[in-house]
Amino acid sequence: MNNFDRELEARLESLRRQGLYRELRRIESAQSPRIEIGGSVFLNFSSNDYLGLANEPALKEATLRAVERFGIGAGASRLVCGSLAPHHELEAAIAGFKNTEAALSFSTGYAAAMGTICALVGKQDIVITDQLVHACIVDAARLSGAKIRIFAHNDLNDLERTLKAAAKEVSSSRSNAQSNKPRILVVTESVFSMDGDQAPLREIVELKEKYGAWLMLDEAHATGLYGPNRRGLAEELKLANSIEIQMGTLGKAVGAAGGFICGSRLLIDYLVNRARSFIFSTAPSPAVAAGATAGIRFVQSSQGEERRQTLWKRVAQLGLTPGLLSAIVPILIGDEAKAVESAAALRAQGIFIPAIRYPSVPRGSARLRLTLTAAHPQADVEELLRALRHLDLGPWNAPGALCAHASAC
Ligand SMILES: *Cc1c(COP(=O)(O)O)cnc(C)c1O
Repeated sequence: MNNFDRELEARLESLRRQGLYRELRRIESAQSPRIEIGGSVFLNFSSNDYLGLANEPALKEATLRAVERFGIGAGASRLVCGSLAPHHELEAAIAGFKNTEAALSFSTGYAAAMGTICALVGKQDIVITDQLVHACIVDAARLSGAKIRIFAHNDLNDLERTLKAAAKEVSSSRSNAQSNKPRILVVTESVFSMDGDQAPLREIVELKEKYGAWLMLDEAHATGLYGPNRRGLAEELKLANSIEIQMGTLGKAVGAAGGFICGSRLLIDYLVNRARSFIFSTAPSPAVAAGATAGIRFVQSSQGEERRQTLWKRVAQLGLTPGLLSAIVPILIGDEAKAVESAAALRAQGIFIPAIRYPSVPRGSARLRLTLTAAHPQADVEELLRALRHLDLGPWNAPGALCAHASAC
C-alpha cells in the first residue's frame, strides 16, 4: 500500500470508529415499494419517489420515444449545441406547472442551487439560511464567497435578528450604484428533507420584505404534494408571487432526474448567462428531460391528484398528529451506532429504512428517515407498523408516538 492509500485508510477507519462509515448497496430492481438487495426482497420505506412515478409507464414511454428521436447524449452544453427540443419542452412545462414566467432546468437540484446562489450573490453580499437547509445550499453559499449567517431552525425571532443585523451591515456599505449594492439572500426549504416539517413561510416572506432581502425557496420535498395544483407549499399558502427564486428537483415526486429554478423571465435569462453549473456542464440527456416533462404532466393530471390522496391516506395510517401532512417521518434515535443497529434490525424483518447520520443530519441526531409513497399498498404500511413495534425504539415503540417533527421530540 502506498502512502496515499494508507492515509485514506486511516481516515476511513476514523469514520468507522464514529459509526459514520457508509457504503453503497446494489439494488437489483426498479425503484418501487419492493426492492431487491443481495437476493432478498425488502419493503422499501426510504424512497423520495413520493407519487410512485419513477417506474411509471407514461414516463418510461415518453423517455423511450425521446431516445428514438434524440438519442441518449446531448453532445454539448446547453449554450453550445446541446439545447435540444426536449429541454425547451421541459422548461415550458415547468413554467406552466408552477405558473411562473419562465423556468430553467439543471442536471440536478444540487447543480441548480450551486449555479443559482453563486450567480446571484458574491463576497459583498450576505446569505442567510435556516440551520437545517440541504447540503447543496450550504455548499453553494460557501462557494459564492458571500458572508453566511445561519438562523435557528424555523425560528422567526432569530431570523429577524439576523436580518436586522444584515440590513444594517448592508446599508453601511459605501457602494451605492444600484447594480452593485450589497444584497441579502434568504434561502430555506419549504418542507425539510430530514425532518419533514414545514417552514413558517408566510412570516418568512413578511420578514424578507420588511428588510429588503431576496428569498430563494427550495421545494424539493413539496413539489407535487402541496397546493391546489400541487405546485408546492408556496402555492398552498398563496405566496408564490412574493418569492423571487423558486427551486425544485425533478428526481423526487416528479419521478425523473434533474433540478429546476423558476421565476421571472429576467431571472432565467440572467441564470443562462451567469449560472456556472448550467453553462459549464453537458446538457442532461434529452431522454431524461422528456421523461421529466411526462412526470410534470402526470403530477398536474387528475391521476396526479389521486396519487397525492393515496399518499396522504398512507401517511394517515401511521397515526401521527392529525392534520400534519408529511411523507417524511423521522424516527429520532440520536446515537449513530444505535441508528445503524435499528436499521439492521428492521432489515432482518424485511423492512428497508436506512439510518441517516452526520453529515446528512447534525451529530447526535441520527435517525431512521421513514418515507411513504403513493405506491405503497395499505398492507405495506401495516407490515411496517408491526415491524416498528418489534423494535426497541423507546418512545417510538408505539405507533402514534412516532414523531413527525424531530425538533419537537
Ligand atoms: C434532494 C434535494 C436536493 C437536490 O436535488 P437533486 O436533484 O437530488 O440533486 C436539493 N434540496 C433538497 C432539500 C433536497 O432534498
